[in-house]
Amino acid sequence: MDAQTDDRTRNHVIDPSTQVAHDSHDELHQGAVVMPIYQNSLFTFATYEEFDRASTDVSDSCVYTRGNNPTVRQLEMRLAALQGGEKARCFASGMAAISTAILANVRAGDHIICIDQVYGPTRELLTNFLTRYGVETTFVDGASLEAIQAAIRANTKLVYLESPTTMTFQLQDLSACARLVKSIGAVTMIDNTWATPCLQNPFEHGIDFVLHSMSKYIGGHSDIIGGVLIGSAENINRINASEYLLLGGIMTPHSASLAMRGLRTLPLRLEKQEQSGLTVARHLESLPFVRKVNHPGLASHPQHELARRQMSGSSSLFSFETDLPAEEMKAWADRLEYFRIGVSWGGHESLVTVGRLGPGYESVPGSLVRLYVGLEKPQVLIEDIEQASAKLPVEKTDK
Ligand SMILES: *Cc1c(COP(=O)(O)O)cnc(C)c1O
Repeated sequence: MDAQTDDRTRNHVIDPSTQVAHDSHDELHQGAVVMPIYQNSLFTFATYEEFDRASTDVSDSCVYTRGNNPTVRQLEMRLAALQGGEKARCFASGMAAISTAILANVRAGDHIICIDQVYGPTRELLTNFLTRYGVETTFVDGASLEAIQAAIRANTKLVYLESPTTMTFQLQDLSACARLVKSIGAVTMIDNTWATPCLQNPFEHGIDFVLHSMSKYIGGHSDIIGGVLIGSAENINRINASEYLLLGGIMTPHSASLAMRGLRTLPLRLEKQEQSGLTVARHLESLPFVRKVNHPGLASHPQHELARRQMSGSSSLFSFETDLPAEEMKAWADRLEYFRIGVSWGGHESLVTVGRLGPGYESVPGSLVRLYVGLEKPQVLIEDIEQASAKLPVEKTDK
C-alpha cells in the first residue's frame, strides 16, 4: 500500500472539517504542523542504483520537481482523500489540468461531447484548439440526457461535464450520464470547481475524472492559480507518465503550500458562505428588477431536486437575470461598494460581473449579473445591493 492509499483509507470516514485539520505525522519534518516548502528543482542520490530505481518509478519517486515534489505530493494526497478519489495531480492552473486531462484522453479522429454552458476557455480549447488536431466536439444541453445520447457517435471517446456551470448554474444528472457513457465505453470528466470536494463527490456517481480550478474556493484567498485532476491510480499514473511530464504545467511547491493553507479552512468557509450566499440570493429574488435568480440551492431553481440529490450543499457563486439593459446593470455594479468588479471567485472578497466574460460565453445573456458572496456579513452585502438598486428604473420591468 503506498502512502497515498494509506492516507485515503485512514481518512475515509472522517468528516472534511476534521480531515483538513490533520496531516499524517511525518517524522522527517520534526513534527512540524505545516508541511515545509521543498523549494528545490532536483533530488540527489547516494548511489547510482538508487538513482536508477527512482528514475524508473516516474509516478511516485522524487527525481526532478517537474515530476514530483514532496510539498506538491502532500497537497495531492490531501486533495485525493478529500475528494474520495485514489490519486491526484496538481497543475499550474485549472486550464492546465483541463487541457492535459482532455489531451490525455483523445487522439486525432476522436469525438467529444461537451455541455454547452461549459467554462468559456474550456469551450475555446475544444472549438479552436483541438479541432486543429482532428478532434471534434459536439456541444449539447447538459440538462438533457436525451441530448447527450443523441450526440453519441461511434468515435465518441469523452463526455465532458461541469455541474453546476458557473454562469447559468445548470446541472447534469451525474449518475445517469456516467451510466450512459460507460455503456458506450467512453470516459467521463467533470469540472467540479463550484461544488468543491466538500459538496459533491462525482466518483460516487461513477464519473471517471474530477478536476478543479484551485484558484477559486480551494485556494480561498485570491492569491494562487492552480488546478487539480483526480481519478483512479491507474488513470492518473498513465497521464503522469505521458502528458503531465511532457506538457509540464506543474504547480510550484510555493503555490502548493498556499493551497494547503487554503484547504484548512475550506469546509469552514463553505459552511458560512453557503448561508450568506442563500441569504443574499433570496433577497435578490424579492427585488422588482430581478426576473430570475440562478442558484441551485434555491427552491425556484428548475433542477433544485437534482441539486439536493447529488450535492450536499451549495457554494456562494450565483447569477440573476433582469430585463434591464446591460449598461444599466454595469452602472449598478459601479455603485456597489462591497462587491468589487472582477473575474474569478472563491476568495474572501465579494465580486460582481455583468454579462459575458470573454470568448466562449456567446450564449450568456448580456445583462446577466453574476455575484460571488465572500466572507462579509450578508446584511452588509444586502444593504449594499439596496443602495445600488435605489437608482434603477424598476418601473420598466414586469414584476
Ligand atoms: C476558473 C475556472 C477554471 C479555470 O481555472 P484557472 O485556474 O483560472 O485556469 C475552470 N473551470 C471553472 C469552472 C472555473 O471557474
